[in-house]
Amino acid sequence: MIEQLASADALLVVDVQNDFCRGGALPVAEGDQVVAVLNRWIEQAERTGATIVMTRDWHPPNHCSFTDQGGPWPVHCVAGTPGAAYHSDLRIPQRAIYMDKARDPDRESYSGFDGTGLAQRLRLAEVERVWVGGLALDYCVKATVLDALAEGFEVHLILPATRPVNIHPEDGHKALDEMQQAGATIERNSP
Ligand SMILES: [Zn+2]
Repeated sequence: MIEQLASADALLVVDVQNDFCRGGALPVAEGDQVVAVLNRWIEQAERTGATIVMTRDWHPPNHCSFTDQGGPWPVHCVAGTPGAAYHSDLRIPQRAIYMDKARDPDRESYSGFDGTGLAQRLRLAEVERVWVGGLALDYCVKATVLDALAEGFEVHLILPATRPVNIHPEDGHKALDEMQQAGATIERNSP
């Protein structure tokens, strides 16, 4: 049974963008399936006064992570393009902290905490527990979870609300092990 969110909780919705879903530039298998799950969590957060954080991968056209710049990824989530937009079925809350990351062309940044001031904002909101879902499990979600733990938050990963890229087939499982060993709780059930 999932505990009810409360005002000392934050829900972090990581990079639920068209390019990471079916038909996108860097699609994650079953990426679309996180949307309905996360919508229920967003509704719950709105109802209970929990803090909501919505992140986007938001790159300049010459970002260092792109293959034509020597990076590992195809061009994806270029700022302002349809591929960088939130999935059209994702619930967009009125009250949320919106965060666009990895905007510096020369620097990759997977975590929502990396250089964004997010930890400080959550502390100001008196957040103690953080619930994380989104795309992709083995990259931006993992990095966000590990940083949240390092910042001292109690962290719960919502497993039905995330999917791995799985460049190597075991990447998703390895990411879960890593998060769990670092102290995250893996929530295998979800409303
Ligand atoms: Zn990216």
